[in-house]
Amino acid sequence: MNGSLLVISGPSGCGKSSLLNEILQHDNSIYFSISTTTRSIRDGEKEGVDYYYVSKQEFEKDIKENNFLEWANVHDNYYGTSLKPIKKALADGKLVIFDIDVQGHEIVKKKFPNLLTSLFITTPSQIELEKRLTKRGTDSHDTIQKRVSNAKDEMKRVFEYEYFLVNDNFEKTLEDLKSIIKVTRVKKSKEDLSNFLSNW
Ligand code: 5GP
Repeated sequence: MNGSLLVISGPSGCGKSSLLNEILQHDNSIYFSISTTTRSIRDGEKEGVDYYYVSKQEFEKDIKENNFLEWANVHDNYYGTSLKPIKKALADGKLVIFDIDVQGHEIVKKKFPNLLTSLFITTPSQIELEKRLTKRGTDSHDTIQKRVSNAKDEMKRVFEYEYFLVNDNFEKTLEDLKSIIKVTRVKKSKEDLSNFLSNW
């Protein structure tokens, strides 16, 4: 495995997708991991771009067949990362970026301890998160309350991450994210160092 991994977590609505869209538009050497989910498709989202949308039965079949690198139940829906494309991207030496929750991060960290860089992004406050979710206009009042309440629990696990960004200024956060991506790319695993040393 020559590639590297960057896990990005943070409350739904903190701006992760917009930041990542901006990065991915200008860098086609990054492999963005498209997750599979059982949640309904939102206005403006596309199958195979934002997620692969499947039924609960299909998702549970994939769990049984061990097709996921990790999966979790988030806000009462399943979300998971398929294993095969990640292995291929890493073998091709790519930087793989995941937008997954704190449970997913914990699993990926256990599976790839040497390759992983981790980042947590959030809003300046809970109130700001609620405002952004309301402004996005894609979720009902109840769903927004559930997401804000989930965010409070997710925030408690911020200490498990190497980097932390508060997205209060899009351009500034984007620049910081670019720096973290640069560092992720040059990070060397112990395995890489051992290989280098034996050939040096
Ligand atoms: P949303 O429904 O807003 O797209 O995503 C809800 C949450 O699920 C976000 O925190 C997002 O990071 C997380 N998520 C998306 N895909 C995955 C995945 O494949 N695995 C895990 N564990 N979490 C995911």
